[in-house]
Amino acid sequence: MVAGAVEPEFRGARRRLVETLQDKGIRDLAVLRAVDMVPRHLFVPTTVRHRAYEDSALPIGSGQTISQPFVHARAIEQLGLTGQEKVLEIGTGSGYQTALLSELAAQVFSVERFRELLDKARPLLQQANVRNVSLSLGDGTLGWREYAPYDAILVSAGAPHVPPALDEQLAEGGRLLIPLGDKEEQMLTLLTKRGGRLERRDITPVRFVPLIGAGGWPS
Ligand code: SAH
Repeated sequence: MVAGAVEPEFRGARRRLVETLQDKGIRDLAVLRAVDMVPRHLFVPTTVRHRAYEDSALPIGSGQTISQPFVHARAIEQLGLTGQEKVLEIGTGSGYQTALLSELAAQVFSVERFRELLDKARPLLQQANVRNVSLSLGDGTLGWREYAPYDAILVSAGAPHVPPALDEQLAEGGRLLIPLGDKEEQMLTLLTKRGGRLERRDITPVRFVPLIGAGGWPS
């Protein structure tokens, strides 16, 4: 759970962002509430902090970006979280989406391949009072076997195909959301496991940074 109310000067801006997301079609009230709670300004570099509540992607260092809030909201909405789930996130990045997920699920496990990003995200999540998140440094295309199976898996980088380990670590009935395509453009794809097989549904075209690893693109 995060303490979004601690910085009153950003509350108005955050509320306006929630309204923008509603106008753009985000309907899940729990997702909107999470956006209203999580202090996004903590997760962006100080140089762009004044833009933290614009609905746009921003640079976070190591050549990576924090996605546009609409993209986060749209993606998380697809997971249909009820608060009971164990969720695996691949690509912690700034930790912002991790904080959103922490509001919407019981437990969040998040893997990031850049130590520098993870070292920044960890204290920020603490500062935001997030308690139900575990972070790991490594190749997320291999998942996080120790805590599998997961009710939902959210991959925040674009992959050429579904990494087999993520398929294996998804629970029956679970949902896996992953951008699939080439390095420039992907289709945000929702895969639901039924009878041990993945049913596929295309959501929307997106542009994510590449998923680099054994089950993704070579580095
Ligand atoms: N959701 C993040 C932004 C994601 S950017 C946020 O809210 O800020 C995509 C992230 O995926 C980057 O941080 C990148 O380093 C990471 N990434 C790419 N390939 C990865 C892999 N194989 N394992 C773990 N993280 C990976």
